[in-house]
Formats: sequence, C-alpha cells, structure tokens
Amino acid sequence: MLLVVGGAGYIGSHVVKELVEDNREVVVLDNLSTGHRWAVDERAIFIEGDMADSKLLQKVFEIYNIEAVLHFAASSLVGESVINPIKYYENNVSSTLTLLKVMKENKIDKFIFSSSAAVYGIPSVDIIDENTLTNPINPYGKSKLMVEQIVEDFHYSYGLKYVTLRYFNAAGAYKTGEIGEYHNPETHLIPLVLEHLLGKKSSISIYGNDYNTKDGTCIRDYIHVTDLARAHVLALNAVLNEEVTNAIFNLGNGNGYSVKEIIDTCEIITGIKPIVKLDKRRIGDPDVLVANSKKILKELGWKATIDIEDIIKSAWNWHKSILVKRK
Ligand code: UDP
Repeated sequence: MLLVVGGAGYIGSHVVKELVEDNREVVVLDNLSTGHRWAVDERAIFIEGDMADSKLLQKVFEIYNIEAVLHFAASSLVGESVINPIKYYENNVSSTLTLLKVMKENKIDKFIFSSSAAVYGIPSVDIIDENTLTNPINPYGKSKLMVEQIVEDFHYSYGLKYVTLRYFNAAGAYKTGEIGEYHNPETHLIPLVLEHLLGKKSSISIYGNDYNTKDGTCIRDYIHVTDLARAHVLALNAVLNEEVTNAIFNLGNGNGYSVKEIIDTCEIITGIKPIVKLDKRRIGDPDVLVANSKKILKELGWKATIDIEDIIKSAWNWHKSILVKRK
C-alpha cells in the first residue's frame, strides 16, 4: 500500500492515476485546501485530513500497511510566499517534518518528494543540471530546498530512502480528459492563455518583454503532467527495490519556449486569436529556466515524451470540458 499525501492536487492526482493503472493500492491524504475530491481516482482510498495532524497520520499508518509515501502537499504560489512566508514554512516545511517524523516512528523508510526548479533561483547557466548551485530567491523555493535538506539528513541519520524530483513547468491534462489543471486562483501561463481564449478573461498579459532572451520574454521548460507522473512511478519502483536510496533528479523536457511562443502555439492549436497586453515584470522571474534531465535518463531510463503542441492540445481539451463540467 502507498500513501499519497496531496493526491487531490494537480500533479498528485495524475500520479495517483498512474499508480492505480499500475495496479498499486493507494491511500490519498489531502486536506482539500487546493485539491479537489473529484480529481482523486475512485480506485484509491481517500482520507480528508492534514499531514500536520500527527495523530491522524499515526492512525493511517496503523490501519494501512504503508510501504512508501509520495508527498505532493504544498503551498506553491511564489508571490503569496513572499507576502506570507509563515504559511510556506508551516505548510511546506513544518508539516513535512511532522510527516517524516511519524513515518520514522512507524518504520516507513521510503519517500518520494516533489521539489521544484524554484530551488535554483536565478541560475548562472541556461541549462540547469542537478549540480547547478541551489540559491532560491523566494520563501516557496527556500521551503522546498529546506525540505530537500531535511530529507537528506533523514537519509544519513535514520536510513530514509528517497528520491527528490525537481519539476520544471508542469502543464497539460490526463489523456482521457477526466482530470487536469484547476487552480483557484490560476497563475500559470498556459491555463491563463486558454481561459482567455475561452472568454473567461478579457486578455492575456505578458509579464515583461525586456528579458535577455531571443524575443525578450521569459523562457521556460514545459513538461506534461503525465510525463511527470511516469517519472514518479519509476522513482518509486527504484526506491522500493532499493536500486536507488538517495537521489535528486530534474524533470523537464530540455526545450525552452518563450512566453510569446506559448501564446502563439495556443493560437495555432485553438484557432482563436488572443488579445495580448504587455504588463510589467513579475518579481523573481529568471530569464531562462530549462532543465538538463540526463541524470534521470541515465539512472532510471526516463525522458519526457510529450511535446509542447501535445501539452497544449491536452490542456485545451481539458479547459473546454471544465467549462461544461464544473461551471
Ligand atoms: N507569465 C506571463 N503572463 C501570465 C502568466 C505567466 O507572462 O499571465 C509568464 C511568467 O512571468 C513566466 C512564464 O510565463 O515567465 C511562466 O510562468 P508560470 O507562472 O506559468 O510558471 P513559473 O515559471 O512561474 O513556474
């Protein structure tokens, strides 16, 4: 049995799907602060609750024979983290420490952790590998790096076996269209462009066109959420088999697309012309963030398989359907 903490969120719910498709038994713990009950596959057991609640965790570990924990529950808005760092250190760091402590007390020693490219801050190189210096520039990125360090200490001191996955820009939706990205508020580029094209927003803003890039807009590495989810299954299997005991991997496509290119691709795929406005830079946006994911290819045989057109197509199908389903 596996415990997926935060399994009702965007990435967690896609990983739950991959796991149940892989015939794994899954328990999801989620406080539904940002996740959705409908996003959890019905083959998984769902418990509404908070990982900061050590008594609840203890009960879960007593009832179910949990082999490994996959942890997705986190606050993840960079801007909010600057305004309200306490929330980020409580939800992301302190609650994860509780989870790891109760796991240790129950001799559960296998862990998959969702980290972020935000740990790199403004990198000195354009293509980032796992040895690139970590230097987060906001409380969100710092909270992720702190947990990475706690996890590493649990490995060396208590024998925790783990894989930490540093995501670049997750996007897209599940192939059947059942689940996809549904944040409130939405801050990410691709869903915002598509919501605009569906008439839910009057325009799309480009946050700065004076970056040091070919067209002046920021370049990011977009990775399909199902590619991300597959990486979790591989990482989990490697940890369960103890082929890997402590590793950090980047997860990206290795291709960078500018904000303008994303908006143009959305226009081509949907056939709808967007109204584009130029806005001021958003705080803390690096010019270019592109992953080198060769380490996970070499060690686990993973690479991204879904390109930007298919990422946007799947997101478009999803966004069109939620207008009908979840109005
Ligand atoms: N962005 C933008 N307009 C928007 C939302 C995002 O220009 O309405 C830009 C943002 O400044 C960044 C890129 O799109 O350069 C990707 O932003 P997103 O929030 O999707 O992901 P992040 O890279 O911050 O994780």
